[in-house]
Amino acid sequence: MAIKATIEIDAGNKTFATGLMPDLIAALRRVRAGELMAVSSNEPGIGPDIEAWCRFTRNALVESNVEARRARWVIRCGDAPAERDAGRALGQRLWLYTNFDCNLRCNYCCVRSSPRAPRRALGLARVRRIAAEARELGVTEIFVTGGEPFLLPEIGEILAACAIAAPTTLLTNGMLFSGRRLDMLRALPRDRVTLQISLDSPTPERHDRNRGLGTWARAWKGIGLARAEGFRVRLAATVASDAEAEDFRIFLDAHQIAEENRIIRRIALRGFADEGIALARADLVPEITITAEGVYWHPVGAEDTDLLVTTEIFPLAESFAAVQRAWAREGEHQRRLARIFNCA
Ligand code: SF4
Repeated sequence: MAIKATIEIDAGNKTFATGLMPDLIAALRRVRAGELMAVSSNEPGIGPDIEAWCRFTRNALVESNVEARRARWVIRCGDAPAERDAGRALGQRLWLYTNFDCNLRCNYCCVRSSPRAPRRALGLARVRRIAAEARELGVTEIFVTGGEPFLLPEIGEILAACAIAAPTTLLTNGMLFSGRRLDMLRALPRDRVTLQISLDSPTPERHDRNRGLGTWARAWKGIGLARAEGFRVRLAATVASDAEAEDFRIFLDAHQIAEENRIIRRIALRGFADEGIALARADLVPEITITAEGVYWHPVGAEDTDLLVTTEIFPLAESFAAVQRAWAREGEHQRRLARIFNCA
């Protein structure tokens, strides 16, 4: 599904050599900071020029859909926000998307997971190799996510392999802790595995509206169960506004959830979401993310081509190096811009 933009420009056959730039500048004047404009064109070859123009004018290229005869680029008006967590060394965190199917279909899922989504499993053998090589590369935190990882019969072995390499956090909707899955959970080392369970609101209404009827109650039960089993549990809320975030903070305070066990983040305009924060690659400090399809820049777009770095996972040292090179190129663009604007 294409991202909706405030302004749609049909550039036809225009290029930067034949009058596209004035159209872009005029359109920019009609959007406010943070709003999106889309450029459609019969000239897919102008993509690199569009990207360069965005960098030069400090607007963010959020999405590119380029086909043989028609292309559409979505541009967010305004510079990338200040980088969060920029102090963390690249490669300390490693994300693994173990699968893409899920027992839920949340209406803002950034990777379009659902019960009907193909599994696209990373698989135990690859996870074992990744974990072994990650340890050598100095990874200090592993995050296992999906889809819903607890749908996988081998998730216990996957988590055990990761936990040997580094402290591991499992992202889950917390709704599947019963039967053999509960046995699997009980066998995991409490000192190496943390559970991050999604809960979006203090009461069921908003959570259930986004994730499905009855899901809040089941997630809350899962949170209680995981804590009773002795796991460290982080609660992760996805919210649409500052007011919703504040609401949730009050709830967490009332339940004495420590600061380090809370994650509150805004909905990203990726995947199924039709509103949220538009994020371009330049906005995101890379957190190396591996899926069955390859290595991505960041977990928030782990199936989006603009965030794909390489389809080759192994050797892991080489895929880490590929992300390092891409990050260095991103920095080089920024420095070049600084020279252009500072030379007077
Ligand atoms: S947001 Fe999480 S729980 Fe919801 S569909 Fe996506 S992967 Fe599943």
